[in-house]
Amino acid sequence: TQEVTAEKKIPEDKKLSEPAVFVPVDRSPEVQEARLKLPILAEEQVIMEAVKENPCTVICGETGSGKTTQVPQFLYEAGYASSGMIGITEPRRVAAVSMSHRVAKEMNLPTRVVSYQIRYEGNVTSDTKIKFMTDGVLLKEIQKDFLLQKYSVIIIDEAHERSVYTDILIGLLSRIVPLRNKKGMPMKLMVMSATLRVEDFTENQKLFRNPPPVVKVDARQFPVTVHFNKRTPLEDYTGEAFHKTCKIHRMLPPGGILVFLTGQAEVHGLCRRLRKAFPFRRANTAECEDGDTAEDMQKFKKTKHKKMVSLPRIDLDNYSALPLDEGDEDREADIEDGDSDLDLGDDPAGTEDKSDPSIPLYVLPLYSLLAPNQQAKVFRPPPPGTRLCVVATNVAETSLTIPGIKYVVDCGRVKKRFYDRVTGVSSFKVMWTSQASANQRAGRAGRTEPGHCYRLYSSAVFGDFSLFSEAEITRRPVEDLVLQMKDLNIDKVINFPFPTPPSFEALVAAEELLISLGALEEPPRSGRVKEMQRARLSCPITPLGRAMASFPVSPRYAKMLSLGKQQDCLPYVIAVVAAMTVRELFEELDRPAGSEDESSKLVQRRARLTQMRRLWAGQGASLLLGDLMVMLGAVGACEFAGCSPKFCEDNGLRYKAMVEIRRLRGQLTNAVNAVCPEVGVFVDPKMTPPTEHQVVCLRQIVLAGLGDHLARRIREEELLDPKWRNGYKTPLLDDPVFIHPSSALFKKVPEFVVYQEITETSKMYMRGVSAVEAEWVPQLLPQYCHFGAPLESPLPWFCSSSGTVRCHCSSTFFRVGWQLPAIEM
Ligand code: ADP
Ligand code: MG
Repeated sequence: TQEVTAEKKIPEDKKLSEPAVFVPVDRSPEVQEARLKLPILAEEQVIMEAVKENPCTVICGETGSGKTTQVPQFLYEAGYASSGMIGITEPRRVAAVSMSHRVAKEMNLPTRVVSYQIRYEGNVTSDTKIKFMTDGVLLKEIQKDFLLQKYSVIIIDEAHERSVYTDILIGLLSRIVPLRNKKGMPMKLMVMSATLRVEDFTENQKLFRNPPPVVKVDARQFPVTVHFNKRTPLEDYTGEAFHKTCKIHRMLPPGGILVFLTGQAEVHGLCRRLRKAFPFRRANTAECEDGDTAEDMQKFKKTKHKKMVSLPRIDLDNYSALPLDEGDEDREADIEDGDSDLDLGDDPAGTEDKSDPSIPLYVLPLYSLLAPNQQAKVFRPPPPGTRLCVVATNVAETSLTIPGIKYVVDCGRVKKRFYDRVTGVSSFKVMWTSQASANQRAGRAGRTEPGHCYRLYSSAVFGDFSLFSEAEITRRPVEDLVLQMKDLNIDKVINFPFPTPPSFEALVAAEELLISLGALEEPPRSGRVKEMQRARLSCPITPLGRAMASFPVSPRYAKMLSLGKQQDCLPYVIAVVAAMTVRELFEELDRPAGSEDESSKLVQRRARLTQMRRLWAGQGASLLLGDLMVMLGAVGACEFAGCSPKFCEDNGLRYKAMVEIRRLRGQLTNAVNAVCPEVGVFVDPKMTPPTEHQVVCLRQIVLAGLGDHLARRIREEELLDPKWRNGYKTPLLDDPVFIHPSSALFKKVPEFVVYQEITETSKMYMRGVSAVEAEWVPQLLPQYCHFGAPLESPLPWFCSSSGTVRCHCSSTFFRVGWQLPAIEM
């Protein structure tokens, strides 16, 4: 075939140098015609010359100008695929999959030649020439082969998104490319961005000594009229989006509508509402069957619940909790959302909106986790005589271009991942987007003809938006990131050429935590202070650290997972870690009642739920595992009952959280099996309660992971203030903290506890509390202990303000029956 002949034509000595051979591509006339309309085609020569002359080239071009689909083809045709693969990274899985299919189709090549790889899934073969992948996949490949010898070109796509892994990749490639060239194996780097703001890459001396050339692609953009709302709805922006869409559909000329919301649940909610308002009779089901109707959702729910009773299907392609593979804002498994927003009765315009319009509305959802065949529908023309309406998350902002859009409805918000500074646990928050991204959204309306963008917020609010979305790396703790980089053998993270570096404090805190978890080698404790400090910032990774790096949770929890194989504790550790990672599992018990009547019901409910939680906490040994035992009990009980929404409602559990836990348990099980195949865990959703022996083991594992969250009850003789009674001292805080009244250990007040997080309300409260034994501390957390002569303090141990927990060297501390063998790799 063509590629093979192309390869033959290259003389041996030229093989790895500049390609000179034109590799023909056999495109269909329709594809050829569509291509010629793309603005990037006009720049092909400029781009290819820049690539030829420079190790690194930056391309800026409006979304839809053809970067993702065409640049790999330019390179292929210029012969770059004959000396290695052309690799393209995407921050989103959806883009990697759908773009590989599109390019394969355009080039008339099979998917074994134009392939994709996302974590745990892909169709790459030995024939692959063009490979789309997520940024996390390439990062893992760099770990195996730093020089990326399989590739002749790496294209970093969607660089404007500034996802952490894209940033790191650019930093790494800025070193890899010169190295390859030095070794006589030339390699090209291309960075593609949908915005013109590329100075962080081009004018960063640490990254590139010679600033790379920037090729700008002028997109033919038709004017888009932007309409602001007079008022800004603070809560019900989906309702507002519904009304606006209805109005556009009823009153404005033909043209597709694209609605931007923040997440999967909102997208489905609005789709259902719109479909109900503008029913669309499916004539020939084969072509336009939507596959995603309310009935289908219902069916989906039913089969899902049925499945809950049997063994869970471990979900291989749903590895989204993993930071490495993701830049996925719509990760939340919330398809199961209640249908309450379907009810049009509560909005005054509802009846009017239900009026039968002459043109049916063809409503399609679009978000990252949507099945590829469902996603593909947005690219096809809508059934004749209908108007297309795509309800999307911000995947439609830059990653995918939907044809035929004339109207954009923008809620102005985005769902972002936030990292809790205390726990390192991530959560999602809906917040205002940036001006740059709002303008990107508006631009979607002007691809084929002049369009309109309806912003569901006022121009004053828009004025307050930040100009650009900040790089993700600046707004999250970085211990997981530092661990991943150490796993790549980048020991001096502090010297790494980040396009935007994280703060020094964040890096120091991350290294300290990783050292204390045993993920990094302990630096020497002698020498000059300065040298010691420097050494603390360049510790290499340990085998334990490598195991931890492969788990998709924060390093504290990863440590627990890596210890979990002992005493058959793994299924419990996995369940506990999953439950701790998914937040707000339990209904809040002290929520205020709305009315007198409700109040008495609430008192009853509270009593019942408290009793239930007491039951889950168990007695004796298991009670000491505290709140984590309650979580474990809740997960087990819920699975036993088939994880039904009713069970959750009756027992004060958040259904969505339980479904998410179940999914995470599957994912974590896969991850653990991948690290230690010999363990071979499988998750039985219906866990039998742990034995007493296992509970002790679990408590130690939890201590090993949450060691920096250790607290000791304040003793009588230390009480400076009676208010401190039952208060705890922690290494990092000067003020006492307390066990939350909702905790299983509230009345028990054990002497030593570890906690998951501290929240501050009327007092500082620890949540997710588990009791530990003092004598475990020097054994399991020697790094926090001071051994040797008694210290000046009269107390057996105290927490110093520097954060070190010190204790006496006492023989009793060493007489611990429990051994936690080091993990072997
Ligand atoms: P960019 O990366 O610059 O945003 P793309 O290369 O993704 O641009 O898209 C170029 C064009 O190809 C767009 O007009 C888009 O509509 C079209 N396109 C992309 N994917 C598909 C697809 N799966 N089916 C049909 N058209 C597509
Ligand atoms: Mg693109």
